[in-house]
Amino acid sequence: MIKQTAGRDGLGDLAPKFAQLNDDVLFGQVWSREDRLSLRDRSMITVVALVSKGITDNSLKYHIQNAKNHGVTKTEMVEIITHIAFYVGWPNAWAVFPMVREVYAQDAVNAKEPLFGLGQPNDAYAAYFIGQSYLNPLTTQGVTVCNVTFEPRCRNNWHIHHGGGQILLCTDGEGWYQQWGQPARSLHPGDVVYIPPEVKHWHGAAEDWFSHVAIEIPAPGASNEWLEPVSDEEYNMLTQMQTEE
Ligand code: MN
Repeated sequence: MIKQTAGRDGLGDLAPKFAQLNDDVLFGQVWSREDRLSLRDRSMITVVALVSKGITDNSLKYHIQNAKNHGVTKTEMVEIITHIAFYVGWPNAWAVFPMVREVYAQDAVNAKEPLFGLGQPNDAYAAYFIGQSYLNPLTTQGVTVCNVTFEPRCRNNWHIHHGGGQILLCTDGEGWYQQWGQPARSLHPGDVVYIPPEVKHWHGAAEDWFSHVAIEIPAPGASNEWLEPVSDEEYNMLTQMQTEE
């Protein structure tokens, strides 16, 4: 059962019956029938209903936030609005995108608390990154393991791990990994990347924050060789190809 107090909080003094119907009937009895239709589906349908009526006040913002809380991703929300724009009216869709941006911008804030900790700005390696990255050393006992967090669009230069190679364990957000001459691979939490020694590659964030644990595979005389940056042109191509999928 959903506990809703928005009606009583906002209108309890002025319209107590309306407030009670809102909180106890609409939310308490209708929204709560999760065995018939999930909260995720209900929240998407409600957003569509409000946008189609041209309602872009706080109630729409609440329901976009609610959809997000029930697992509707930013990509999905943008797709929903793009889809319904043809049916509900172009200006209605235009009006809602800034609100979608605002609600989902909170993601960036959340992503700053990655599973293995943000650590400190990665100043020591800043010359080999485009954008801001953060480094959290986890252990140097036997194997060097660090958590690396990339702000949206941040990526490291093309580079080579000589000797030992590297393993990436993806924990938060959305990222990219690309080997020289190969298509880029989209990365999500739970993905594992094995990077063999002597292979030229880069890794970093997609349009969202991204964190991975980086494990340096020990080898005698292992070293890193930093090469040219991943240009905006190369990087934007990836996003564009993904959008066209
Ligand atoms: Mn690497």
